[in-house]
Amino acid sequence: MRSTRPIFRVLTSHTERAVSSSSSSFETCLGTPDLEKTFFKSQNSEDIIVKRLCRENKYEEAIIRLCEGYRLTEAILLLDRIKRLSPLVNSNLLQLCLEQKSFEGTKRVHTHIKESGFFPGVSSFNRIMDIYCKCGSLVDARIVFDEMQEKDLCSWNTMISGFAKVGRLKDARNLFDAMPERDNFSWTAIISGYVRHDLPYDALQLCRTMLQDYNVKCNKFTICSSLAASAAIKSLNIGKEIHGHILRTGIDSDAAVWSALSDMYGKCGSLDEARHIFDKTSDRDVATWTAMINRYFKHGRREEGFLLFLELLKSGNRPNEFTFAGILNACAHHNTECLGRQVHGYMSRIGFNHSSFAASALVHMYCKCGNIEVADRVFKWIPKPDLASWTSLINGYAQNGQPEEALNLFETLLESGTNPDHITFVGVLSACTHSGLVDKGLAYFNSIKEKHGLAYTVDHYACVVDLLSRSGRFSEAEDIIKKMPMKPNKFLWASLLAGCRIHGNLDLAKKAAEALFRIEPENAATYVTLSNIYAAAGKWGEVAEVRKMMDVNGVVKKAGCSWTEIERKVYTFLMGDTSHPRSMEIHGLLEELQKKMKEEGYVPKTDYVLHDVEEEQKEQNLSCHSEKLAIAFAILATRPGTPVKIFKNLRTCVDCHTVIKYISKLVSRKIIVRDSSRFHCFEGGSCSCKDYW
Ligand code: ZN
Ligand code: ZN
Repeated sequence: MRSTRPIFRVLTSHTERAVSSSSSSFETCLGTPDLEKTFFKSQNSEDIIVKRLCRENKYEEAIIRLCEGYRLTEAILLLDRIKRLSPLVNSNLLQLCLEQKSFEGTKRVHTHIKESGFFPGVSSFNRIMDIYCKCGSLVDARIVFDEMQEKDLCSWNTMISGFAKVGRLKDARNLFDAMPERDNFSWTAIISGYVRHDLPYDALQLCRTMLQDYNVKCNKFTICSSLAASAAIKSLNIGKEIHGHILRTGIDSDAAVWSALSDMYGKCGSLDEARHIFDKTSDRDVATWTAMINRYFKHGRREEGFLLFLELLKSGNRPNEFTFAGILNACAHHNTECLGRQVHGYMSRIGFNHSSFAASALVHMYCKCGNIEVADRVFKWIPKPDLASWTSLINGYAQNGQPEEALNLFETLLESGTNPDHITFVGVLSACTHSGLVDKGLAYFNSIKEKHGLAYTVDHYACVVDLLSRSGRFSEAEDIIKKMPMKPNKFLWASLLAGCRIHGNLDLAKKAAEALFRIEPENAATYVTLSNIYAAAGKWGEVAEVRKMMDVNGVVKKAGCSWTEIERKVYTFLMGDTSHPRSMEIHGLLEELQKKMKEEGYVPKTDYVLHDVEEEQKEQNLSCHSEKLAIAFAILATRPGTPVKIFKNLRTCVDCHTVIKYISKLVSRKIIVRDSSRFHCFEGGSCSCKDYW
């Protein structure tokens, strides 16, 4: 459709015709912006100048003026008033198109060039091609490339890197192989394309070809790419070879090369070498520091990670949110709340963004360390919490014996309009399990698929089996196991086994244990639980059988150990541990407490023959369990009233659980025990787990 409506009504008559005849093309291209409104009603001095230039027919000057004011749309609209682009106007327009990544604008300039027969030179076409690539239209870029009468090296490189960047490596490689000559950019474009798109072997192969067959020297970009490639395939040998190449050729290696080198060593597991390179790097920025710190954490060398973090603080470099998130996640993983709290303090002093994921990492850290109050406080500061924060806190409440809070929070999450994911539902379901809300839990389970359209994961099935078997609804649990589309995992069977222990379901316990023996025959916990179930039912023959099976399979029980952190120092206790300097006091306190407990009706629970951890069933051995020792020490080493927090590598035993309930009342302290399955929060003689664990 050709519009005859002149939009430049105030223009003089001889230009009016040109305007009306060409207006349709840019209307379809850019819509119909109200030019009259922008220029002719505007009293802006700049607009008055543009208006005057238009009246005087000086469109080129007007376009340049508009380009200088970053007004691309209006500049493009004036394009139709000129017959041929001058090189200057062309260059101004394309520069602005590039800056604003304007596909439509570029298309318009390109069309104008074609229609007007103006030949702006190879570099202009290269530029157009580059913008098309950057705007994601490789089809248009390729058309320009194919239509170009003459091409220079830059034309080839632009097209190759356009393809390589989006992973069209076959197309990139075909062009690369067809190139009449290549420079460093050509090699870099394709090698880094291979690395970025998970083809490290191709990258290294091509790099070798470059060095050997073509005798082209590596530059820092090809070096960084090939280091990343050898890191990706974890080949220390190739990595070292490249390192040697860097040293031999003495290429101008900057911080990026050193950091890639350090990264390669880290990913190949050579942490000390990575550190060596890190120490030698002169211009280390915070990203380099953070990467090195996180490398330590990733390889379980937390002490060194923490020490390097302290060095970073001393170095005058300011940690960023990535640094904080890394260190807080390490604190969460190792349950070192003291250090986490210090990091938090530091963050507050220097100021941090409460919307960042460092805030989310704080919530996660406090939840993992069992300090749900502070986790909740931090969470409330976050203006718009992300799903990870919501999920951490929901899981935190569920794990810390406050299932109602967890479920309330989940309802608030739904009201906030954030969509839960499968991990959120693990928290929700375990909250229902811990509070015995079986039917509510089942309703949530059904809603995962029906209401939220999420796919069930094996963890959801494990949770719902846990939920049902803890409350003794075994037939429903079995039904779900039969119907689930994937293979049950060890957590599901272990939950079922735990439910059978609570309700003394011998037949199903045997079935669950057998499944567990198939998945992980080396795990002592299964044998122990099964034999405990038999022992509780007085089936001593079966108990002996399980014990024999353990011997035959060569299963060794893990030694139980508990630890507590007091003033940033971790104290670890094994069963019957007398190595601690305050051992006499510890045992004295336990004896004293036991006397008082017996007066209140405590009877040591010795009928569990094969205890989770320890062999002995005699009364005095029970009092030596590592968690009791750690608690007694923590009571002695802290001021009255201070909450006691201990961690245990295995599940806490029935006797210890009972004893800790008494202790919490006798010494009037809150005692938090994190065992291998959950947090127990003992207060005033009862536990938050309500004796289900
Ligand atoms: Zn115990
Ligand atoms: Zn408990």
